[in-house]
Amino acid sequence: MALIVQKYGGTSVGSVERIRNVAERVAKFKMLGHQVVVVVSAMSGETNRLIALAKEIQKEPDPRELDVLLSTGEQVTIALLAMALKDLGLRAKSYTGAQVRIVTDSAHTKARILSIDENRIREDLASGHVVVVAGFQGIDEAGNITTLGRGGSDTTGVALAAALKADECQIYTDVDGVYTTDPRIVPDARKLDTITFEEMLELASLGSKVLQIRSVEFAGKYQVKLRVLSSFADEGEGTLITFEEDSMEQPVITGIAFNRDEAKLTVLGVPDKPGIAAHILGPIADANIDVDMIVQNVGIDGTTDFSFTVHRNEMKKALDVLAMVKSAIGARDVIGDDRIAKVSIVGVGMRNHAGVAGMMFKTLAQENINIQMISTSEIKISVIVDDKYMELAVRALHQAFGLDRSPAA
Ligand code: ADP
Ligand code: ASP
Ligand code: MG
Repeated sequence: MALIVQKYGGTSVGSVERIRNVAERVAKFKMLGHQVVVVVSAMSGETNRLIALAKEIQKEPDPRELDVLLSTGEQVTIALLAMALKDLGLRAKSYTGAQVRIVTDSAHTKARILSIDENRIREDLASGHVVVVAGFQGIDEAGNITTLGRGGSDTTGVALAAALKADECQIYTDVDGVYTTDPRIVPDARKLDTITFEEMLELASLGSKVLQIRSVEFAGKYQVKLRVLSSFADEGEGTLITFEEDSMEQPVITGIAFNRDEAKLTVLGVPDKPGIAAHILGPIADANIDVDMIVQNVGIDGTTDFSFTVHRNEMKKALDVLAMVKSAIGARDVIGDDRIAKVSIVGVGMRNHAGVAGMMFKTLAQENINIQMISTSEIKISVIVDDKYMELAVRALHQAFGLDRSPAA
């Protein structure tokens, strides 16, 4: 007998029929004698619908009230799934995050889980219940409802699995595993049987939304056995996130991620002297804006251009800050560009291979795609390119690094 936490995403609970399918899958695991905790998302589209409603009332919705609103999406699906399970003759109980006592910090709309009281869940499991928990939400010490950021149900699933020391956490979604890149962009993308934790962490942080980054962090911290599978297919092992690297030869590149979440800011004609980077980025940090990539050129005529990227939602705020910085440091101008995309190649195999960056740049050059910024780490290379070339870049790189499905497969 095993204790399994299963998480079902929005599409997997997107209709009454699909909720019944989920109940049937859960029932199969119960019949095999396992204890099952189920985490569900809101029905697909529901969280977006609620956000749009809020924005009709307030252009920038109050974060505390937004969390009260958004948490209702998951409250609907836990109740419906519990009913569907009962309809199959199983014992089931649903709980909101607050009812479980999933305690978070107070950072509304992006709260972090601090602790989970798993006692009640254990009691229910011991008495033969399937426990259904609302994903994406918690409660802070003061009793306010919080949410964990978009895609946060993944994190609820893995955090519960960690708290309960579950044998496995299964993330059921609309694809049958983690692919070499988003199969919606590259139909030839290949499903991976395993992926290392480090690679999954990079892919998630660079934009692959198949798993929320925090769920991967939790899995690493608590060594949760984590698997991504399809809620639509009956068979298949999905993709297992592994903590040991395969001793066999690793491919150079395992996957490609991309996102359109960032905007680029450039300060033009900055005096090229010590302390300039601090002068520009200090006030940005003070305004609580996170900076991702940074490029500073060496000046020839005593001035230089300084560029960096921030989240797109914060471009306006950053421009306001820079407007003040500009006159203080005597820069010529400040420009913002939100028509950029970040494309990243990821693979632990990069450690043992030279020439990966060269290959990436050559591939993009052949497609006439200009690289605006570059950043690297031991197992990834990211570039910023014009938004409109993002898909082309991903496809070209996918093919160049031999990730396409072979015709025979
Ligand atoms: P859920 O609602 O089940 O949480 P998401 O939409 O959040 O589902 O995540 C699943 C989606 O992630 C897939 O439909 C796919 O388009 C996208 N995706 C992005 N990158 C990848 C990847 N490397 N492998 C698989 N899916 C990916
Ligand atoms: N319903 C939330 C969202 O759409 C959480 C989730 O699905 O994981 O982001
Ligand atoms: Mg998701």
